[in-house]
Amino acid sequence: KEALLQVKQLSVEFPTRHGTLKALNEVSFDIAPGEILGVVGESGAGKSLTGAALIGLLEPPGRVSGGEIWFEGRRIDNLGAAEMRALRGKKIGAIFQDPLTSLNPLFTVGQQLIETIQAHLPLNASQARARAIDLLAQTGIPAPEARIDQYPHQFSGGMRQRVVIALALAAEPKLIVADEPTTALDVSIQAQIIQLLKRVCREHGAAVMLVTHDMGVIAETCDRVAVMYAGRMVEIGPVQQVIHCPAHPYTIGLMGSIPAMDEDRERLLQIDGAMPRLNAMPQGCAFHPRCTQALARCREAVPALREVSGTQAACWLHQAEAQ
Ligand code: SF4
Ligand code: MG
Repeated sequence: KEALLQVKQLSVEFPTRHGTLKALNEVSFDIAPGEILGVVGESGAGKSLTGAALIGLLEPPGRVSGGEIWFEGRRIDNLGAAEMRALRGKKIGAIFQDPLTSLNPLFTVGQQLIETIQAHLPLNASQARARAIDLLAQTGIPAPEARIDQYPHQFSGGMRQRVVIALALAAEPKLIVADEPTTALDVSIQAQIIQLLKRVCREHGAAVMLVTHDMGVIAETCDRVAVMYAGRMVEIGPVQQVIHCPAHPYTIGLMGSIPAMDEDRERLLQIDGAMPRLNAMPQGCAFHPRCTQALARCREAVPALREVSGTQAACWLHQAEAQ
């Protein structure tokens, strides 16, 4: 299948007074039409930056310093601001942690939905309203005919995120970038919202890049998973393969965070230490100070992603023959 999105060797840097910090290093991956790709890793690993770079919303002074992003066969990393905004409105949707960042408090939910729908589909006012009500119903909002005329503050946090999902789908995007979409919500409704996101995106045929620090969410939702560490992608593969047979020592450590899935995993070592800061990146594999299996060459050279029985991992353990 032709890729919907291709990210090739993407790098992002932040100029600072003390020099340039590389926040993302040569990250490559693709997403197929309708596929759900999870991106997991600790806070600061580069997950949100990758998502922000894709949709042209990197916070200045951060900037793409290398690589290419292709969407539907067209290069998009070099588009101007207006073109990128148009693409974001129509083909690529975004869902952020806090639903209030996506909703305008001054307009009713219906006004916002109808505006988005009419910007993308040739529908008159009553047709667009019917479609908006339908979207609210699909996202599990009770009594959508009444709720459509309410303002965002009249919805609970969970209901608001359902509205945001409806709004993201209103333009029938091909890709939705969802960055920690349930982190700000009550724990009791997080799973519901994730299942909803998965179901409606499947129904609408939208691919999803789901950024989360929660391996449990990945396991339940995604087709493939990409693991990030210190600004690099260290493993990527089909979700079952990565969960049951992770190749990278960092991924193996991460699996300790989903003990309920497999009793054996509970006995795996938790990872000691912390991820290095951008201004103090160790040489070689950035994981080596925390890795119990580090080899001499791990301190010298950065391993590239290579095929390892069913997944791809960036680890010298699996590249003995390359030396
Ligand atoms: Fe550990 Fe070396 Fe693999 Fe890095 S490359 S994860 S330090 S074994
Ligand atoms: Mg983040």
